[in-house]
Amino acid sequence: MCPIDCRQVLTQIELYLDGELDVSLHAEVHEHIGTCGNCADRSEFQRRLKAMLRAKCGCDEVPADLLQRVHALLQEAPPTPL
Ligand SMILES: [Zn+2]
Repeated sequence: MCPIDCRQVLTQIELYLDGELDVSLHAEVHEHIGTCGNCADRSEFQRRLKAMLRAKCGCDEVPADLLQRVHALLQEAPPTPL
């Protein structure tokens, strides 16, 4: 089985952060992030973003339309270091 690539990691990152991936896939993403600076940055950025959105709306669920807007932004611009 070949290791997953950056594109796959990025499509799974949200599930990864939510702990909703299969154990084996979670381990692969985790390992990739450990060796890939790009994906590590992206994962950290997403994690902070989710935490921030959660804190702002005071609930566990981030509104889907807000997430979609954020994702659209993420695809247009790389994350800026915080
Ligand atoms: Zn990567």
